[in-house]
Amino acid sequence: SDSRIKLRKRNDEIYDLTININKMLDRMQAYTNQQKEFVEDVSHELRTPVAVLEGHLSMLQRWGKDDPEVLNDSINSSLQELKRMQSLIQEMLDLTRVEQIDNEYLSQTTEVKPLFKQVYNDFKMLHPDFVVNYDDDIQDGSEVRIYRNHLEQVLVILLDNAFKYSGDRKEINLAASTNEALLEIVVQDYGVGIAKNDLKRVFNRFYRVDKARSRKRGGNGLGLSIASRLIEIYKGTITVESVVGSGTVFRIELPIVQDGIDADQESDDTN
Ligand code: ADP
Repeated sequence: SDSRIKLRKRNDEIYDLTININKMLDRMQAYTNQQKEFVEDVSHELRTPVAVLEGHLSMLQRWGKDDPEVLNDSINSSLQELKRMQSLIQEMLDLTRVEQIDNEYLSQTTEVKPLFKQVYNDFKMLHPDFVVNYDDDIQDGSEVRIYRNHLEQVLVILLDNAFKYSGDRKEINLAASTNEALLEIVVQDYGVGIAKNDLKRVFNRFYRVDKARSRKRGGNGLGLSIASRLIEIYKGTITVESVVGSGTVFRIELPIVQDGIDADQESDDTN
């Protein structure tokens, strides 16, 4: 399957050209492999809901006509499973769309303060029983180079996880601060936590620490891969620290834009 061009070493342009072509072929091969892996993962992920759905439907077929309770249960469970598949499809689309983000998005800037406030308000509205310690230390007018909806999507994913894996202590910290160069956002919960071995893998697609538990909460294992790809594409960083049984902290950093120029690039240029 090695499609590379083989040419004995020589000192001319043709040799240089083959080197470049080979590099390109390698990249195409890597891309094809990634696509293949993705299709394999997706097929694997769809197998469970499809099998569950089949189970409910055959219950319905066998006993549904005579037993109204079975009828009701099977229909409800089937609908629930279908909803789960819909959210899986939506998240898979989101993940592939991240890879197609183009310059139109990459050149956008977002004012942080109002967005941060709005995300906080939305969370409070959805989860009124949660204690949210809100700490806004964002300089007025600060902007970051990211498409607004993408930053919102990342924050919603982290907050949604903080909620889903909160355990008994319904409390989270949501904090943001800026300096000349960076915006930092922290989402901290006091929930179930993540074991050290799992920590490196939570950003992998379809990875769930506890499949059964996550499934029950509607988790597909795609949220964090979407969030980390987005942050990576906008040249930010996302990190996680966690202690099992005491909670988890996710931290995002994104470059601040000053006078239309990314703060970190500006300092690069003057060096
Ligand atoms: P999911 O849809 O399953 O939540 P994610 O990609 O968002 O998928 O997260 C991957 C896995 O990482 C989750 O299944 C969960 O096991 C773990 N995880 C994510 N966030 C947290 C958190 N705040 N606390 C504990 N575990 C978490």
